[in-house]
Amino acid sequence: MESSGPSGITKIIFKIKGKKMTSKVYVNRTLNLKKIKYLGLDMDHTLVRYNSENFEKLSHSIIIDKLIKNKAYPETLKKLQFDYNYAIRGLVIDRQKGNVLKLNRYTAIRNSYHGLKPIDFKNHQKLYKSTYIDLSSDQYLAIDTFFSLSLAVLFSQIVDLKDHDTSNKYPEYAKIADDVLDAVDMAHRDGSLKDEVRKNLDKYIIKDEAVVRGLEKFKRHGKKIFIVTNSDFHYSKLLLDYAINPFLKEHKSWHDLFEIVITFASKPKFFYESAKYLKVNSDDGTMTNVDEKLLPGIYQGGNARQFTTDLNLDGDDILYIGDHIYGDILRLKKDCNWRTAMVIEELAQEVDNNIKAQPIIDEIEDLMRKKEPLENELTDMMTNKVETGKVDDSRVEILQKKITEIDTQISTLIKKQQSLYNPQWGQLMRAGNEESYLAYQVERYACVYMAKLQDLLELSPRNYFRAPRRPLSHEKVSTHAAETEENISQDSD
Ligand code: IMP
Ligand code: MG
Repeated sequence: MESSGPSGITKIIFKIKGKKMTSKVYVNRTLNLKKIKYLGLDMDHTLVRYNSENFEKLSHSIIIDKLIKNKAYPETLKKLQFDYNYAIRGLVIDRQKGNVLKLNRYTAIRNSYHGLKPIDFKNHQKLYKSTYIDLSSDQYLAIDTFFSLSLAVLFSQIVDLKDHDTSNKYPEYAKIADDVLDAVDMAHRDGSLKDEVRKNLDKYIIKDEAVVRGLEKFKRHGKKIFIVTNSDFHYSKLLLDYAINPFLKEHKSWHDLFEIVITFASKPKFFYESAKYLKVNSDDGTMTNVDEKLLPGIYQGGNARQFTTDLNLDGDDILYIGDHIYGDILRLKKDCNWRTAMVIEELAQEVDNNIKAQPIIDEIEDLMRKKEPLENELTDMMTNKVETGKVDDSRVEILQKKITEIDTQISTLIKKQQSLYNPQWGQLMRAGNEESYLAYQVERYACVYMAKLQDLLELSPRNYFRAPRRPLSHEKVSTHAAETEENISQDSD
């Protein structure tokens, strides 16, 4: 059942055990689940959720050890504390200048830090004369997965140490960025992170029975479910044994629940290159070449094109769900025509905060409505002054004073609103009045998005997601103009 709210947002209302619920899946492009034959899942941070704060804290300390051991960074690094709030996804590192930036949809910088210090307006103008950032330049490094939060935090901390260091112990900013990036890469590949997770699964991995219930429901409705993960077979097995097997009711193990599991997939290359599949023997992890068409089972490598042809599918028979805007969503949308759903874990908190912020936003809008006629009057008076040489100076003074008072009230309210979100970076999906760059990418490339996989799985497997009609700027103006004209004509009647 659907209902359209005053904002034009289409709400899907559904029932669980007789209780009315509102869907937490947000729609960019119309999607009919009834038509989806294959549901594809990314594993880490999508099918299997992490306690991200614990994991990134561990990552932060392992990267520090590697920098000291392999790259001769000073032992002082050991004193650095991990602060999870120091970075959010969607930020961009400026390797050359040692800065971290938050961009809006046009890649204009809306918030910036040098190391641990905010960059003030004047410095900002000096550093970034050009308004827009060219993200294709290797000067910039996107922080777009949870796995890169520790990188952003540590980069800022080391830049700060370098700025306060007089003995030249630290390399250039760009080299710091590359060293930290290398250390993160190594930590993920050499087992140092994963061995810790294996020893302490409860601390790092979240079990969610509801996800397994939802997946079994989708299977009952004839959907085939597959996994495409960049994790290797042994790590995938570890997480799936832990997070999926204990809750299965209609399947013996995850091997039966998932039609095909593709490990070490090298996304995003999986979506646009032609790597060969290897068949994985699930008893011992050994691999053999695959000469025939894909059959149910566990694989390593491979590519999306062969997947679609071997299984005799059209791209839009498949819905792929992932958490990484670049690796899971953007390249997939550009290179294949699979449908896409993105999991944005931070969204749950952001939506809650938006609800808390609404009364403050209403107050700001009230003040703006008061300010507008004062500004118009002032503009008229100053225009008239140029044309006639006459102006009522005392009235100008009163208007300017009133406008300044309102501006002060507005800026206090804006600060109050921002304090609800990340103290340094504000909202995830907004940068000032516009969408953040991350929100822009999500809107462009993800057909639907939600805070967690379960938000989609709790709906009917036949659900129809209808995209809301988004008014363009001139359409909003014309609605407003029509209302104003109507009021004027009523007044004059
Ligand atoms: P997925 O999200 O299921 O595709 O899996 C992500 C995998 O990529 C996990 O096994 C991560 O440990 C791994 N990973 C994340 N960042 C890096 C990196 O910088 N280098 C190598 N592996 C990474
Ligand atoms: Mg993932």
